[in-house]
Amino acid sequence: MKGGGVILPGQTIGVMGSGQLGRMLAMEARRMGYGVQTFSPEKDTPTGQIADREVVARYDDEEAVRDFARGVDVLTFEFENIPVKSVEWAGEHCVVRPSSRVLGVCQHRIREKEFLDGAGIPLAGFKAVGSGGDLAVAVAELGLPAILKTAAFGYDGKGQRKIEPGDSLVEVWAPFVGVGAVLEQVVRFEKEISVIVARGVNGETATYPVGENVHRNHILDVTLVPARIGVEVADRARRLAVEIAGKLELVGIMAVEMFLGRDGRILVNELAPRPHNSGHFSLDASVTSQFEQQLRAVCGLPLGNTESLRASAMVNLMGELWEGGEPDWAAVLGMAGVRLHLYGKKEPRLGRKMGHLVAFGGDVEEAEGLALRAREVLRRGEGR
Ligand code: AMP
Repeated sequence: MKGGGVILPGQTIGVMGSGQLGRMLAMEARRMGYGVQTFSPEKDTPTGQIADREVVARYDDEEAVRDFARGVDVLTFEFENIPVKSVEWAGEHCVVRPSSRVLGVCQHRIREKEFLDGAGIPLAGFKAVGSGGDLAVAVAELGLPAILKTAAFGYDGKGQRKIEPGDSLVEVWAPFVGVGAVLEQVVRFEKEISVIVARGVNGETATYPVGENVHRNHILDVTLVPARIGVEVADRARRLAVEIAGKLELVGIMAVEMFLGRDGRILVNELAPRPHNSGHFSLDASVTSQFEQQLRAVCGLPLGNTESLRASAMVNLMGELWEGGEPDWAAVLGMAGVRLHLYGKKEPRLGRKMGHLVAFGGDVEEAEGLALRAREVLRRGEGR
């Protein structure tokens, strides 16, 4: 295996996964003089369009994974559904950060919740469910309403089902047969918030200001930074993220999604050990973007300053926006204080993240108003 130390400009970053998170990481890495290679089963990908080399192979193709790892200095990932085994193979040939252990915990809801619970981190009540019988026991214990979630491969609300009093548990369980699941109490939240935390090789940590997130159809729609919460709550959220990163011995960057309960408690919802949609504001509004921060952390370099330069609002551009035809890019580019990001995806499918906008303001309300107006300006056809 190559040296385990510091990876400097001129050396090469390997990215497992090839979506927009890898793309923005690759852009930052390129800006800083690094080589970038990406590995995924797809071709002409958002990351591949920016990388020096796009390797197209299955994640479980051992020879391809080993070969990829031999050609890079550090390997990281941009989504967590990569087999732990593949990352272990890679670790025999290059530095892998975050570790396969972190990946293994965060790609599986039950492991993640058990880890957090064991570490004393506050969570919504939950119970692992492996059968219809388990579900009845879990419902009796946790009460309804509750949310049933698949243990693995869930994202953006996929593999989730809310259970209300009176629902037939046999029907609810049917699509979950054969897949592990977890039942969670429904949290009555005031807001959804998230913290992006980075942790370096030497244990140094840095957090970004807290983001306030609004979801639509279980998918992130808007992030406002800074979140409209008190200083004490924001400090508590940031400290919680640092504590989790420390207990995980993370080297890299991680998003911690949380609920701010109506009772003032903060409960952790889930972890993502990679850049996150709710951290996109940082490319335009922060001294150091979350992507540069990931690069710094995985390369064993000092972490960057996470201060925000301006209040900002990020809005996602989903495939739906194309329903009336190609969005009106020129119109939005004519607006001052709005930045456009597109991910190079050819097909604007419904529910697909195609890009995002970031708008600035004197405060987050002003930034949000501008971002939402900008998104409306893009929309052609009847919806406009
Ligand atoms: P997840 O994929 O777990 O992040 O869930 C997606 C979204 O569903 C969250 O951002 C919340 O808006 C909602 N949600 C998930 N779990 C809960 C819960 N236990 N209580 C209330 N809302 C939830």
